[in-house]
Amino acid sequence: MLKLHEFIENINKTQYKGKILEHEPIAPRTTMKVGGTAALLLSPSDENSICIAVSLLKAMELPWFILGGGSNVIAPDGELDAVVISTEELDSIEISEKNDEFTLIKCGAGTKTETLVDFCTENGISGLETFAGLPGTVGGAAFMNARCYGKEVSQVLHSARFLEFDPMQKNTEFHDNFIERHLKMYHNTQMGGDWAYKNSPFMQNHRFITSLTFKADRIDSDNKVRIGLECAGYIKDREDKGHFKAPSAGSVFKNDRSFGEPSGVLIDKAGLKGTEVGGAQVAPWHGNIIINRGDASSSDIKALVKTVQERVKNNTGFMLEPEIIFAEQNLC
Ligand SMILES: Cc1cc2nc3c(=O)[nH]c(=O)nc-3n(C[C@H](O)[C@H](O)[C@H](O)COP(=O)(O)OP(=O)(O)OC[C@H]3O[C@@H](n4cnc5c(N)ncnc54)[C@H](O)[C@@H]3O)c2cc1C
Repeated sequence: MLKLHEFIENINKTQYKGKILEHEPIAPRTTMKVGGTAALLLSPSDENSICIAVSLLKAMELPWFILGGGSNVIAPDGELDAVVISTEELDSIEISEKNDEFTLIKCGAGTKTETLVDFCTENGISGLETFAGLPGTVGGAAFMNARCYGKEVSQVLHSARFLEFDPMQKNTEFHDNFIERHLKMYHNTQMGGDWAYKNSPFMQNHRFITSLTFKADRIDSDNKVRIGLECAGYIKDREDKGHFKAPSAGSVFKNDRSFGEPSGVLIDKAGLKGTEVGGAQVAPWHGNIIINRGDASSSDIKALVKTVQERVKNNTGFMLEPEIIFAEQNLC
């Protein structure tokens, strides 16, 4: 990539801490397991390093993509001509406040959702059980406003710290007070007010979530077993539905309620279960999941998405909207 080596030289002169990897494979960092390499992959190990990396990218006008657990992302074939910033090293978790009514749990954005759910179980904190078995990170779950068994992240998120940039503003100089100017706090005072289905406030202005605080019930050790059993029940239900049978990115299409039926049912009714393009296949057991049969490419998945959209449109008149994110189409 143009200016890549200049970027590496520049970042090495800063206080940046974390990995800097050239031509790094992305597929292993996603659940779909397709795609090529990132021209450069950064794994900042703290918030300050994210700020340094992003400010330098802004200053040099280089494109970037934020990668959480990669459970909703499809990496392109070949090399992604952008800098991928992985949140994998931001995996802290602690109770930041507790009282007789509620508990606040603060996590780094790259903390696995599974870690948060396990932490709550171990501490007897109820409220996040439905998220058991959700792949990916808490940052990705908040960005996507993940919904599990009727509960959305918007209903349990208390606050978040994020970096914000005006995407139209070209050159932000790389200087000392960058962090104070761009690091902001989001308070979810309306608990759901400025959110919608598969839509979060972080989708505006290239917001980069660095940490999040979740609000759950008060600590009650007597609840541990009950919470553990409930979580195990949700995980079992996902296993029974075939969520983990093959590499996938979960639901491919959003469930638009105005269509009257879930996308998976529309796809099934169009006779598309099992349909294949190259190594990609509509899961024979679930219409709204596309799986990688082992050698799928990103192009196979794109072609299959298009085939499904066309067939369902012909059948019902409805145009399914993808939920999965093609990295190269979502650069900051
Ligand atoms: C088997 C399976 C089952 C699933 N079940 C469900 C389900 O029940 N409900 C549901 O809603 N989803 C489900 N998903 C989809 C996915 O797991 C969730 O959306 C998940 O929360 C995404 O988190 P992630 O860390 O993997 O995000 P990624 O896939 O890495 O990224 C998703 C998007 O979030 C952005 N992003 C990630 N981290 C940050 C950050 N820190 N700041 C700003 N932007 C960020 C990325 O740029 C990208 O645009 C499932 C997926 C799989 C594979």
